[in-house]
Amino acid sequence: MNASRPETVLILEDDEGVARLQQKRLERAGFTTIRVTNPSAALEIIRQGGIDLFVLDNQLGGAEDGLAFYHRIKNAGLDLPVILVTGYSDDATIIRALRAGVRDYVFKSVEYLDYLPEACRRVLDQVRVQREREQALVELKAKTEELRATTQQLWQAARLAGVGELAASIAHELNNPLGTVSLRLEGVLAKTPPDDPRRKSLEIIDSEVSRMARLVANLLQFSRPGRDQVSTVDVCEEIRKTIELAEHHLRKRRIILRTEFDPTVPPIFADRQQLRQVFLNLFTNAADAMPQGGQLIPRVRTGVLQPNQPAVVIEVVDTGVGIPPTHLGRVFDPFFTTKDEGQGTGLGLAICKRIIDQHHGKIEIESEVNRGTTVRILLPVRNGTNTEALH
Ligand code: ADP
Ligand code: MG
Repeated sequence: MNASRPETVLILEDDEGVARLQQKRLERAGFTTIRVTNPSAALEIIRQGGIDLFVLDNQLGGAEDGLAFYHRIKNAGLDLPVILVTGYSDDATIIRALRAGVRDYVFKSVEYLDYLPEACRRVLDQVRVQREREQALVELKAKTEELRATTQQLWQAARLAGVGELAASIAHELNNPLGTVSLRLEGVLAKTPPDDPRRKSLEIIDSEVSRMARLVANLLQFSRPGRDQVSTVDVCEEIRKTIELAEHHLRKRRIILRTEFDPTVPPIFADRQQLRQVFLNLFTNAADAMPQGGQLIPRVRTGVLQPNQPAVVIEVVDTGVGIPPTHLGRVFDPFFTTKDEGQGTGLGLAICKRIIDQHHGKIEIESEVNRGTTVRILLPVRNGTNTEALH
């Protein structure tokens, strides 16, 4: 079977002299052989395993002939390829042999010893090809299953992308009526004297309408595939905008938000929409990790990416369930998710990594189970050279 290992052939032949002759021929042809003269010794060796082929004499001299013995082996669940050696070339024996499932049979004619090795080789080749086929089939089945799972995930991702597009188009639709409402309101407010009892309500409406307009504008910025997106970006400002979008979601989940922004961080050259996407992904992950609520701390400060390479350091800290060490190496893999179907796509961090790579930055995760997770992003502060790849 294996090119590096000679195949082992077990010979069961009650005639010691004949058995020795068979053994000699087979050994000369390169096989390892074991020779026994009675079925119980054969059974013992077969039980131990490691036999590739069984050369079985049909006339064993006892009550049981070779084929009957082969049935016994099979019934014991010890099937192995068999070549039957028989003194009689009668049809009944051949038919019995075929029905029993022997691979080949050899008649004890004058020259049979010459072609016994050949028969052994042929049967072993057949068996090898068959095993390879079975193995290939198993692999094919596994690959098909893998493909099915991946397709499912792609559909899921595509569906989400579709929802995002829909949200964007609704946001777009909302923009115009909001503009109209805002304009009319301005007119009404202008005609309402400060001491009018309706004034207060109108002011509340005005501020709420402004809030809606901000949200819609924000959402549109997210989904609009802008051209020439690289510009000078204030990272803290982008995080604030992202928080604005996610705030309701976080509040609903009883997540307390505390920003720690160092006001002296310099602006960087970056694609602001992509950065917002990164922050939103990190916030959703943090929120998912805190189903009972908790703290979310976006932090921005200055640091270094390498010696002599100043960087803006962004940390998103949560007090959630954390990531076990065995998962930590895989969270950036596309489609790696521990969330239920329909909850996670496993694409969030993969997308974050790609965006940060394109910005020549670095993204790393520290986590402790049941304590929380810190995602750290370092973006270089350099006059635009870091974003060449984005154009
Ligand atoms: P998704 O959120 O769709 O599962 P992500 O790529 O965003 O895909 O995250 C991959 C996996 O990494 C998550 O399923 C989760 O197991 C783990 N993970 C990511 N962020 C956090 C976090 N802040 N806390 C705990 N686990 C996290
Ligand atoms: Mg995610």
